[in-house]
Amino acid sequence: MDRREFIERSAAAAAGAALFRWPEWLDAQGASVPIGIQVGAVSFVDEGTDKVLDTFTELANINTLFLATFTYGRGIGGRQVAGSPLPDHGKQEYDPNYHGGNFATPHVQYYKNTSIAPEKAPDHPDYDVIADVLPRAHKRGVKVICWFEDVFRKDVPGIDKAFEVDVHGQPATRVCYRNPNTLNFWLGLTEDYLRSYPVDGLMFGSERQGPLNTAIGASHGGGPSPATVGCFCPHCVAAAKKDGINVERARQGYLALERWIDGMKGGRKPTDGAFVTFWRILVEHPEVLAWERLWNEGLRDTYRAMYRKAHEIAPQKPMGWHIWHTNSFAPFYRAEQDYRGFSEYSDFLKVVMYHNCGGPRMAHYIRNVNATLFADLTPEQTTEFTYRVQQYGNEAPLDKLSTAGLSADYVRRETRRAVAGVSEKTKIWPGIEIDIPTGEKEKKTTPEDVYQAVKATFEGGAHGIILSRKYSEMRLDNLRAAGRAIRESVKTA
Ligand SMILES: [Zn+2]
Repeated sequence: MDRREFIERSAAAAAGAALFRWPEWLDAQGASVPIGIQVGAVSFVDEGTDKVLDTFTELANINTLFLATFTYGRGIGGRQVAGSPLPDHGKQEYDPNYHGGNFATPHVQYYKNTSIAPEKAPDHPDYDVIADVLPRAHKRGVKVICWFEDVFRKDVPGIDKAFEVDVHGQPATRVCYRNPNTLNFWLGLTEDYLRSYPVDGLMFGSERQGPLNTAIGASHGGGPSPATVGCFCPHCVAAAKKDGINVERARQGYLALERWIDGMKGGRKPTDGAFVTFWRILVEHPEVLAWERLWNEGLRDTYRAMYRKAHEIAPQKPMGWHIWHTNSFAPFYRAEQDYRGFSEYSDFLKVVMYHNCGGPRMAHYIRNVNATLFADLTPEQTTEFTYRVQQYGNEAPLDKLSTAGLSADYVRRETRRAVAGVSEKTKIWPGIEIDIPTGEKEKKTTPEDVYQAVKATFEGGAHGIILSRKYSEMRLDNLRAAGRAIRESVKTA
């Protein structure tokens, strides 16, 4: 950290501490904690805004909406995904032509310094979700937080000028955080939401990780993909040089990782075993780790810049981050989500603790890394290792994980860990799952496990809760069970 950075960060932290008055924000409704739900435009369009708001109040005492205002993804936008049963409300058909974008109205003056086009989601061409929902929510005393995430389509005009460059020098299809087009797009969106609408706060999410973790497949999605890791774009190379990192040796290290993983995929286990060979690559090319840190620093700089921008415009409105579910599975990603570090630029954290799909997702993670870094171990040993190093108690064995899910105790422990990790000004609002789709024979959400997970959230000391991922996939019985646990756990309006 240089002196300028230090001063900027200290100023941002001081601004957050001095100006952001948390209790006033909380007390406005006489409610002790934010009871949130994630909801996208399609639910209001399909079911009617007042009806949806009535349902939220009636079933679960919701006092905060996390409106999906920008995404091209299906996790928080659109209806239920095809292949999973439609819930017992909303239009009874799928939306295979879902597109995504900005579900409010982009105001072009905020996007002058980016190549990425601010596209209005064509899904509801004449509908602005904030303009519609916000006044009705406010009339009821319900807060509205814009919830936006780093999920794009590849064909967004101008996005190609923001892409990462991979280890082979090819453009990747994900944006580089260090590219000014990317940063200015996020800053533009931050400013647009705060200046164009009287919203109550912002939440941004990035479900991505650095090149080392991506190479070894240390997540619950996809698999190991060492060939396309990055970023080696001119902005990242310049940042590396500034830090005194040998760029060429970083590249050679990642190429060595690719040969190691491809060899094992082809059935050629290294003579010295998977782990020793991996460690040898790290020792010979410590720049591999340096590049992982460099990538994370690019993301953290984005968080800092967005936080600073948001607080310049609206010092009393909270800004926080969605912390990806991989934080629950991979000790590698977990190590990079340092809650104490987050506190410098976060008013709240939505730490994802999806207990139900957590089972199949954990199993997926274990199989991924069992093919790379832990190829010397059995899948069961990899499971045991994962549980032990993350201080998990008695979660299901690997062969039962997909049908058992993770326990309410997992939610309780993860909440406690997060609350203990942050400094006092940062609040923990865990993301609790209702009906995230799982595979055909995998565990499904039940009212009882939602009830237990919500109880565990508050027993763990949470300062609030965010029912996730989107109302359009939740069954009403399960939402009702969340409400029952909420009323038993906290004082609500
Ligand atoms: Zn880059």
